[in-house]
Formats: sequence, structure tokens, C-alpha cells
Amino acid sequence: MSVAAIVPAAGRGERLGPGAPKALRLLGGAPLLVHAVRALSRARSVDMVVVAAPPVEVASVRALLADHELGAEVEVVAGGRTRSDSVRRALASLPPGVDIVLVHDAARPLAPEELVDSVARAVRDGADAVVPVMAVTDAIIRVDDGGRVLDPLDRSGLRVAQTPQGFRRAALEEAHRVAAANGSGSLGDDAALVSRLGIGVLTVPGSEEAFLVTRPIDLVLAEAALARRRARGVR
Ligand code: C5P
Repeated sequence: MSVAAIVPAAGRGERLGPGAPKALRLLGGAPLLVHAVRALSRARSVDMVVVAAPPVEVASVRALLADHELGAEVEVVAGGRTRSDSVRRALASLPPGVDIVLVHDAARPLAPEELVDSVARAVRDGADAVVPVMAVTDAIIRVDDGGRVLDPLDRSGLRVAQTPQGFRRAALEEAHRVAAANGSGSLGDDAALVSRLGIGVLTVPGSEEAFLVTRPIDLVLAEAALARRRARGVR
């Protein structure tokens, strides 16, 4: 079975503040996107990586990725108006032999190769859809419109969803076909779109290194995590 990994990286990512688009922010001297693609392409399970880039930046992202030493075959396609459109465009570009698709955020630069392989393995072993999860450590509260705390939430059934998420290709294609027809592509991540079709989604243990770089403090944390990795001689 052939495995492709899709990286939607066509958004602007303003949440890290002004400057370069989020996927191009530097971590340890290389853009977040390069780290994410490297982790995927070095994973043994992944045969090819497709990056969805802003349409005007396809050539420059292709040149950027060509400049770095990456394992698997890497393609760059033009992304769409929404994240879901970008995933759909990348899906449409995949060759017929691909039957397992992973979708990974460019803003999770330090997802370990072992995590990538464990997600792909779970799909290969028969799951239609797989999402890596972590326990919720913070207390989560619900509030009303006035900011008043509502009933306490039971944390035991809550998990933080990470990427890469893995799918049987046909399930992901169907989920995006339905989401595009309903205009509901922005309601949740890929696993949520698949789940809405009534298809079961399996969870596997996530990784604390696969955190999402969203706020400026996350970049500080990512720099420290990368330094720790390099000190251990990992890449
Ligand atoms: O903006 P948001 O945080 O929802 O973006 C999540 C991911 O989806 C980012 O990696 C972003 O680059 C990607 N995206 C995309 N195409 C868009 C919008 C967002 O690939 N049109």
C-alpha cells in the first residue's frame, strides 16, 4: 500500500504576529514547513509528500524545499481558499496507486517520525481514519455569553487532537466531497469531516513534541525542544 502525506500550508497564519507567513517562520534556521515536510519524508511509511502552497508562491516553495535535504518525493500544488480546499486540491493531485493519505499541519514542525509511522500503521492495519491524541492537562471550562462559568466539564472523555491524521484515501476523498457540497469544510479538522460521515475514527497516542506552533511562546518552546533533540544527536 502506498502512502502520501499532505501538508496544507496555503494560509497566512497571522496568529504568530506580523512577519513571514507562519509556515515560513524560522525554527533552528529552517522554516517550520521544512521541518514538517522533513519529518514526513523521513518516516519509513511515507512514499510521497504533497504541500499545498499559496497559489502565488508555488514556485518559491518548490525551490525552498528543493534546497533542503528531504527523503521522499515532494510535490507542491496550489492551495485553495480554505484549508479544506487546499487539502482537496492536494488530494486531487495524488497518483492512483496511493491508498493511504496522511494530513499534517505545517505548524507542527517537531512531530516525530515514529508518530507518523504509527498513524500510517494503524490505517494499514484496517482503520478508516486515525487521529493521534493527548490527554487534556488544563482544566477546560464552558462559559455563557456573559463570561459566567457554566456546568463543570468532565475532562476524562476529552482529548487534544494532533496531526498527522491518517485515512483510507477513499474515506478522506468522500469526506471532502461531502464537505465541499455542503460548504461545511471549515467545521473541524479532517478527522471531524470523516467522522461526520458516520465513519469510525480510531485514536492512537500522540506526542508531546507534535504540538501546534500558534502563539509566539510556542516558537520559544519549539526552539528549546529542537535544541534538546540536537543535543541528543537526533538530526
Ligand atoms: O488558518 P488556519 O490556522 O486555519 O490554518 C490551518 C492550516 O491550514 C495552516 O497550515 C494553513 O497554512 C492551512 N491553510 C491552507 N489553505 C488555506 C488556509 C489555511 O492550506 N486557504
